[in-house]
Amino acid sequence: MMLRPLLIISLLFSLAACGRNETPAGPQLVVYSSRIEQLIKPIFDQFSADTGVQIRYVTDSAGPLLARLRAEGQNSPADVLVTVDVGNLWQAAELGLLAEQGSPLLEKNIPVSLRDPQSRWVGLSIRARSIVYSTERVAPAELSSYEQLADASWSGRLCLRTAKKVYNQSLVATMISANGAERTEQVLRGWVDNLAVPPFSSDNKVIEAIAAGQCDVGIVNTYYLARMKADNPALPVALFWANQQGDEPLNRGVHVNISGAGVTAASKQPALARQLLEWLSEADAQQAFAQLNQEFPVNPDTPPSTLLKHWGPFKADQLPVVEAGRLQAEAIRMMDRAGYR
Ligand code: FE
Repeated sequence: MMLRPLLIISLLFSLAACGRNETPAGPQLVVYSSRIEQLIKPIFDQFSADTGVQIRYVTDSAGPLLARLRAEGQNSPADVLVTVDVGNLWQAAELGLLAEQGSPLLEKNIPVSLRDPQSRWVGLSIRARSIVYSTERVAPAELSSYEQLADASWSGRLCLRTAKKVYNQSLVATMISANGAERTEQVLRGWVDNLAVPPFSSDNKVIEAIAAGQCDVGIVNTYYLARMKADNPALPVALFWANQQGDEPLNRGVHVNISGAGVTAASKQPALARQLLEWLSEADAQQAFAQLNQEFPVNPDTPPSTLLKHWGPFKADQLPVVEAGRLQAEAIRMMDRAGYR
């Protein structure tokens, strides 16, 4: 007797997880997104207004979304996967979940280092992972690179996020590519020796710990600092663009990662799905997409938000982001060996 109400309730819940519940009159795309609703809905609404294509979306963490795509196989209703960090996009591609998309427009709008060499995914915004410091206890002249945070001068002064986060796995992967394995492991051991407190579960906590005086420096994605500064301009934490000067490979530029997307291998309408990616790569959408999360546009013709502009220009590491995916497993093993948990 209870079955029917339960069914109705669970149906309501699954509908509530979708962006648009009305029966579609025209073309429709289904997007699986690890970006939360508030970061995608305004953009998708604009796409629908521009093109008449409705978008239904499901949001979840990257892991569950990939598992779901795998389980659904060719029967998946998803046309597009939107997620963050190249490690996740790389994995989706490796699992055969994304289809190759030759597109001259995507190639024109998105720099080659920010897309898959095999055209299975593209970056849609740039996220920079750099150094943050206490404006009360650190002079910017003391800072230079990720590697230098392993020096004894930072003993008991460093805060890090856990090594379990893909952001740090990707950063370490690029360090392996730049410095070689042996030198990178030395740096990781230095970081661990310098920790003021055990690693935190989030970038926000790293920034809060610096503000609270628990430590003096840390490494975070810049959008977390941008958000906190927007709420509290007096926060005594500032951004330092890492790895801008010195000798090779220390001057390679700040580690950048992407949020990005790909057309699913299961999509029955890949051309329409590709159209969404192309639309997202154009200047107007780029501005809106990057601004929603205080990230940087991938399209070089699009300027960053005013909030980010005051941090000044930075040199980004030109290493193709795909390398971070390729070296991810090695990075994870190395962090474990070095005692970075
Ligand atoms: Fe994040």
